[in-house]
Amino acid sequence: MFNDNDIITKAAKLDIEKIRSDFPILQTLVYGQPLVYLDNAATTQKPKSVLKVMDEYYKEYNSNVHRGVHYLSQKATDAFEVARRNVQAYINAKHEHEVIFTKGTTESINLVASSFGKRFVKAGDSIIISAMEHHSNIVPWQLMCEERGATLKVIPINQKGELLMDEFEQLLDETVKLVAVTFVSNTLGTVNPVKEIIDKAHAQNIPVLVDAAQAIQHIGIDVQYLDVDFLAFSGHKMYGPTAVGVLYGKEKWLNEMPPYQGGGEMIKTVSFKKSTYNVLPFKFEAGTPNVTEVIGLSVAIDYINATGLDYIREREQQLIHYAIDGLKSIAELRLIGEAKERAASISFLVGNTHPFDVGEILDKQAIAVRTGHHCTEPLMDIFKIPGTVRASFAFYNTEEEVDKLVKGVKKAVTLLS
Ligand code: PLP
Repeated sequence: MFNDNDIITKAAKLDIEKIRSDFPILQTLVYGQPLVYLDNAATTQKPKSVLKVMDEYYKEYNSNVHRGVHYLSQKATDAFEVARRNVQAYINAKHEHEVIFTKGTTESINLVASSFGKRFVKAGDSIIISAMEHHSNIVPWQLMCEERGATLKVIPINQKGELLMDEFEQLLDETVKLVAVTFVSNTLGTVNPVKEIIDKAHAQNIPVLVDAAQAIQHIGIDVQYLDVDFLAFSGHKMYGPTAVGVLYGKEKWLNEMPPYQGGGEMIKTVSFKKSTYNVLPFKFEAGTPNVTEVIGLSVAIDYINATGLDYIREREQQLIHYAIDGLKSIAELRLIGEAKERAASISFLVGNTHPFDVGEILDKQAIAVRTGHHCTEPLMDIFKIPGTVRASFAFYNTEEEVDKLVKGVKKAVTLLS
C-alpha cells in the first residue's frame, strides 16, 4: 500500500524516538498494547519539562502573584510575567499588556463577546462567524446578539469544507461590528485564509477575532503581520496544561472595552460609591490567576520553540498526507472535509457504520480517536451526518501509528459489515 519514499529515514526516526521519550504518557500501555494517541485536537500530551516546572512551582515557590512583597511572591510574580512576555514573543504582539491570561479559548471568546458587545454592539447590528465554527465561537456570540438585539450571519462553505469567500464579502455591510472565524477547523482540518479575511474586513473598518485553538500548535502566528484584532487559544492544545489560555487583543480595543469580571487585581480603587479599574492587562484578569498553569504554558512554548514550528509543521503534513493516502485505500471510507489547505485533523465515516462503533473498535486496539460532532453540530447538519470519526495528529505521532489506524479501521469495517 505504501511505497518506500513514504517511510521516514532512520535519522528522522531517531529524532522521533527522542521526541516521544519527552512525553511520558506516550509510553503507556492500553489493554496491554502501546497507546496510539490520535486525539490531539481535543488535547495534546505534555512534555516532561512542563510537568517538572509545575511540580517545582508547588514545591518551591507556591505563592500568590502581584500582591506580596515577600520572596516567594516576588519569584512567582516574576515567573508569571516572564510567561506573559514569552507568549508575547511567540505571537509577536506589540505590547506585553495585550496578552491576557484566561482559562482557555472558550473564556477568551466569551470575554470579547461580552465586553466588546457591551461597548460596541447595539440593536440592528450583526456579527459574522463561519459555518465551521466550534460551539465556543458560536454560542458566546448568540448570547451576546440575543442580549443586544443583534443578528448572527454565517459564511457558508463548499462540499470540500472551504469557506466561500465571495459570499463572505457579500455579508460585509455597515451592520457588521465584528467577524469571528476559526483559523483551523477542529473537525475538517481546513486552514482558513485568515489574512485575506482580516484584510477584507479591515477594508470596511470591521475588526476580526481569530479562534486559533487549532492553529497555535501547528502554524506560526504573527499577530502584527496578520493585523488581527483579537486572537484566542488554549494552553492544553499546545502541549501545555489545561485551565490556561490566552486572549490577545489590540491595545486600542482592550482600552475601550469594559471589564469582563469584577474582583481583586482588576481594580485601581474601590469604594462603595464607585470603583476604578486597573490598567491592561490586569483590568481583564480578576481574582487569583492560574499561576502554575501560566508557568507551564510558558515552558510548553519553550518546548515548541526548541523543536521548531517549521519542523512540527513539516512532520505533521507528512503524517496527514500519509494517513489520507492510507485511509483512502479503504473502499468504504468517506473523508469529511477535503480542503486544499489543511492541518492536523482528519474526519471520516466508513460505510453505514456509526462513528461511535468505529471508535469503540479502535479503542480496543489502543487507538484513541474522537467520535461525535466535535462541538460543531451546525457543521454536521450541513453535511447531513450524525458525526464523524476524527483522527488528529501531533508531531510526536509516527507512520507506524498511522498504519495501525488504517489496519484498525479495516478491522472495524470487517466486524461491522
Ligand atoms: N475552538 C476550537 C476550534 C476548538 O477546537 C476548541 C476545542 O476543541 C475550542 C475552540 C475550545 O477550546 P477550549 O475547550 O480549550 O476552551
